[in-house]
Amino acid sequence: MSDRRHALVTGGGRGIGAAIATALVAAGYRVSITGRDAGKLAAFANSLGEHCRAVGMDVGDRASIEAGMAAARAAFGPIDVLVNNAGQAESAPFHKMDAALFERMISVNLMGVFHCTQAALPDMLAAKMGRIINIASTAGLVGYAYVSAYVVAKHGVIGLTRSLALELASKGITVNAVCPGYTETDIVKDAVANIMAKTGRSEEEARAELAKGNPMRRLVQPQEVADAVLWLAGEGASSITGQSIAVAGGEVM
Ligand code: NAP
Repeated sequence: MSDRRHALVTGGGRGIGAAIATALVAAGYRVSITGRDAGKLAAFANSLGEHCRAVGMDVGDRASIEAGMAAARAAFGPIDVLVNNAGQAESAPFHKMDAALFERMISVNLMGVFHCTQAALPDMLAAKMGRIINIASTAGLVGYAYVSAYVVAKHGVIGLTRSLALELASKGITVNAVCPGYTETDIVKDAVANIMAKTGRSEEEARAELAKGNPMRRLVQPQEVADAVLWLAGEGASSITGQSIAVAGGEVM
C-alpha cells in the first residue's frame, strides 16, 4: 500500500477542481475526482496518471455521495483530505427568482458540502487527522446583486467552516475555506454570455465588467486557487483552521 495521502476533490474534472486535482497529484497525493459526467471525468483522470481516479457522484444526492465515497475508499483507502469544490452559480433578480432556483443553489453549494463532509469525516476522526477545504467564494464574504441564492449558500459554507473548525480543532482535523474572486472557468464563460445576452455588450466588455471588481483588473487563474488549497492541505498549515482565505487580487479584505 502506498503512503501517499488520499485527497477527494468534488467537481474535480474541470475548472478550479481540475487545477486542484492536478496540483495534488503533482504534489504526491492519490486523488479521487468526482462529478456527474463519468465519461469526461474518466478521460481527465487518465490524463493525470495512475494516482488519479474518477468517481461518479452527484453532490445533490446523499445516496450518490455515499456510493462515490465507498468507491473512492476501495481504490485509494480512507480519505485524508476533502476538497468541497463542486458548485454552480445561477443568477436572477431576487423579485423574479423562483424558489426552485434558490433551492438548487442551496442544495448543490451548501447541502453538498454538508453531505460530503459528513460522509468523509469518519475516516478523518478514525485517523485523528484530516483536512477539509471548502471552495467558497468572495460571495461567501460579501454580497453581490442578482446572485442572492448563491451568496446565501456561500455565506452558509463560511459559517459551517467556522463552526466545524471549532468542533474538530482538538481532533487533528482542520477546516478552512478558500474564497476565489471571478476565476477563468466555465462559470465565468456562462456569466460573460449572460452579460452579453442581457446588455448587448461585446465579449471583451463583458469580461472587463467581471474583472473590474478585482483591484488587479484581471480574472483569477484556477492554478492560483489550487496553490492555496495545496498549502492548506500540507503540514505547514497545521495551525490554520476556521479561516476564509480570499484569492481575489485584493477585492475583499
Ligand atoms: P465549473 O468550471 O463550472 O465546474 C463546476 C464543477 O462542479 C464541475 O466539475 C461540475 O462537475 C461540478 N458540479 C456542479 N454541480 C454538481 C453536482 N450537482 N454534483 C457534482 N458535481 C457538480 O466551476 P468552477 O468555476 O471551477 O467552480 C468551482 C467552485 O469554485 C464552485 O464551488 C464555485 O462556486 C467556486 N467559485 C468559482 C468562481 C469562478 O469565478 N469561477 C469564483 C468563486 C468561487 P460535473 O458537471 O462534471 O458534474
